[in-house]
Amino acid sequence: MNILFASEMEKLQSWLPLLSRDLPQDRITTSLDEKIDIALVATPPKGVLRRLGGAKLIQSLWMGVEGLVADPDYPRGVPLARLVDPGMVAAMSETVLAHVLDWHRQHNQYREQQRARQWLRREQYMAADRTVGLLGLGELGTDAARKLLALGFKVAGWSRTPKRIDGVQCFTDLSAMLPECDVVVCLLPLTSRTRGILNSENLKKMKKGGCVINVARGGHVVTGDLVAQLDAGWLTHAYLDVFEPEPLPKDDPLWVHPKVSITPHTAALTEPRTAVPKIVENVERVRRGEAPLNRVDFEAGY
Ligand code: NAP
Repeated sequence: MNILFASEMEKLQSWLPLLSRDLPQDRITTSLDEKIDIALVATPPKGVLRRLGGAKLIQSLWMGVEGLVADPDYPRGVPLARLVDPGMVAAMSETVLAHVLDWHRQHNQYREQQRARQWLRREQYMAADRTVGLLGLGELGTDAARKLLALGFKVAGWSRTPKRIDGVQCFTDLSAMLPECDVVVCLLPLTSRTRGILNSENLKKMKKGGCVINVARGGHVVTGDLVAQLDAGWLTHAYLDVFEPEPLPKDDPLWVHPKVSITPHTAALTEPRTAVPKIVENVERVRRGEAPLNRVDFEAGY
């Protein structure tokens, strides 16, 4: 089969040796001049999607697919599979744990104190005193939940459809979950239903003195509302990895807000070493005439 690699953000040289090794009978190409059977895409260059109407599968190289779902050039009828990459899932849980622990152990406050040369011991809390609420109980949310539970945190989670996960208080009603939460971690796909979910109304429902961690997409946060809750003291810190637009403009006040920690959309990167076996699995399924795994539901938007 001819497999197109089309991405402005992912570098072909990181993928090609692994793809060629594991798919020896296929041709990996960057040219659209031949018939394409499967396309591997993340932020494909303009004009590429519209030429893939004859493909059997478009396989995303990213876990988030909102850009592809919303692209008017996407050839409807060609199945889209999102990537579920175990290396990326592990990386995301590490980031979530790092931020939760930073806030829980009050290192954010101690960094401020260091700047002021202030020697002040703050009250200690146990992990069991804190409830971490996960927005999204999918691939990323369930892994983070398991690892937070192992550290002793209370864990709640919100999803669209009802879930049962050992040790996790599962909700489909966000208003019922938020009053329990000291920390809210956003691990949702960006859809018309989740855009702007971290707004004043919802942030004010959290426990006073809590923190927000957004490692999903910038569009989930209403930035003005978040800053207002930080400035009012309702929230004590925000860890933000994702923004609209990206990169975050140099003159954006978020860069210097004392209660905001910024990372440049690096909460979890695709890890070709663990992603390629998943891609190969879908290629083999297509070769056998089977449906691909992790097919995107365009109606739901993820
Ligand atoms: P997933 O497996 O599809 O899980 C999504 C979860 O969100 C599911 O539990 C789903 O509920 C829930 N959900 C969706 N719409 C909802 C709604 N309207 N109300 C309540 N819950 C809703 O996705 P994932 O693999 O965990 O990834 C989540 C997102 O993380 C991606 O879409 C991507 O944008 C982001 N991400 C960011 C980075 C980064 O570096 N910052 C890296 C990777 C991924 P159901 O279970 O009921 O369907």
